[in-house]
Amino acid sequence: MKRVVIIGIGFGGIRAARELAGQGLEVVLVDRNNYHLFQPLLYQVATAGLEQESIAYPIRAMSRHWTGTRFHLAEVRAVDFAACKVLTSHGEIGYDYLVVAAGSVTNFFGLDSVERHAYDLKKLADAERLRNQILTAFERAVVEPDPAKRRALMTFVIVGGGPTGVEFSGALIELVRYVLAKDYPELSVQAARVVLIEAFDRLMAAMPEQLQSYTLNKLRSMGVEVLLNARVTDAGPERVVLHDGAVIPAHTLFWSAGVKAAPLAGSLGVGLKPGGRVPVGADLSLSGHPEVFIVGDMAWLEQDGVPLPMVAPVAMQMGTYAGKAIKLREQNLPVPPFRYHDKGSMATIGKSAAVAMTHGMKLKGYPAWIAWLLLHLYYLIGFRNRVVVMLNWIWYYWFHERQVRLITDQDGTR
Ligand SMILES: Cc1cc2nc3c(=O)[nH]c(=O)nc-3n(C[C@H](O)[C@H](O)[C@H](O)COP(=O)(O)OP(=O)(O)OC[C@H]3O[C@@H](n4cnc5c(N)ncnc54)[C@H](O)[C@@H]3O)c2cc1C
Repeated sequence: MKRVVIIGIGFGGIRAARELAGQGLEVVLVDRNNYHLFQPLLYQVATAGLEQESIAYPIRAMSRHWTGTRFHLAEVRAVDFAACKVLTSHGEIGYDYLVVAAGSVTNFFGLDSVERHAYDLKKLADAERLRNQILTAFERAVVEPDPAKRRALMTFVIVGGGPTGVEFSGALIELVRYVLAKDYPELSVQAARVVLIEAFDRLMAAMPEQLQSYTLNKLRSMGVEVLLNARVTDAGPERVVLHDGAVIPAHTLFWSAGVKAAPLAGSLGVGLKPGGRVPVGADLSLSGHPEVFIVGDMAWLEQDGVPLPMVAPVAMQMGTYAGKAIKLREQNLPVPPFRYHDKGSMATIGKSAAVAMTHGMKLKGYPAWIAWLLLHLYYLIGFRNRVVVMLNWIWYYWFHERQVRLITDQDGTR
């Protein structure tokens, strides 16, 4: 029986696995985590809106229903293409076909001080760490006699005006204004600052202008300070420095200004494209290795002259395609080239406010928000997770409460 190894059970890997299960192939799933993570909702864990368990799902709970599939918990260190072997922290795994879907990591663009002092959101633990930091900062502010230091503790700087920065800023200002205001009556909530910094002259660059200005106006009306045409160049534990030398005293810096391919890309021994991404052919295979497919954030493929974005729908469509391509190869049938079908994009800004663009339609406000909620529930894995997430959202909608206001660890908070 031929063996397919899939590295990374994120959005791309999971789709490839589903396509290949029960097809008379041995499918080995390899991931450093024993769960699939729904990254688009990480910011809600960080802002105390959701339990971390509700946005993750055990890989074995999925694979036990997928005939011919088994899971291997390991860190992949490299691939030996000549010997057709994946080299992991727990031994080698031979393959006939390989799907590499190891995703991406945060890109700090060489800003070392920012990397040292900023929080990012890529892993489940990052979200918990950031939540601990936000809540600990408020606890410290309560006992801080110096007004300037208190304000710095209550200042949160967010870098990157894309969907993650916008969603996080909106969720954070709502946490502060609606929930923490009640928890900390001794603090003036008006003194808390949520500052969103964007290098370009607009937020949500991939959206139409009308939705960009809606996002900007909505965030500002909610109390977020949005700085456009501004760049962070340096950071310390209690300050953030902008390109023009301006200093924002702040204990919390959240970086969402970019991602780059997972470090595994660098160990594949091929020339990389911008963002460390791996160039692939029209069938997503690696040059000279038709049996190796690269999918998702790691893959660099241009369509109509522009590289495909590093987003979940691209990864899912690529994963499904790679699975189908392997099945076609096994039947000695031709494999058509991959084509991404863009069904649109969306982002939520706050309660009853979101922007969405789909099939030429532009939605904003309440209808976009409902569409966002339904779509995220649909793509979340696991019935229980969907119920828990929906209940949390309903609870917040009616009572303005976020239950997960827990500081689970104070190490690393400032
Ligand atoms: C905070 C945040 C918010 C986002 N919001 C959105 C959104 O709203 N809409 C949207 O479309 N996209 C969003 N994205 C982007 C989206 O999550 C990614 O594009 C998508 O996850 C890419 O899928 P992938 O399969 O390439 O990688 P991933 O889903 O990241 O999966 C990669 C997997 O590989 C594993 N892995 C990595 N390296 C190794 C290794 N060496 N050994 C073993 N296992 C390894 C990881 O553990 C992981 O399970 C968001 C991303 C983040 C971080």
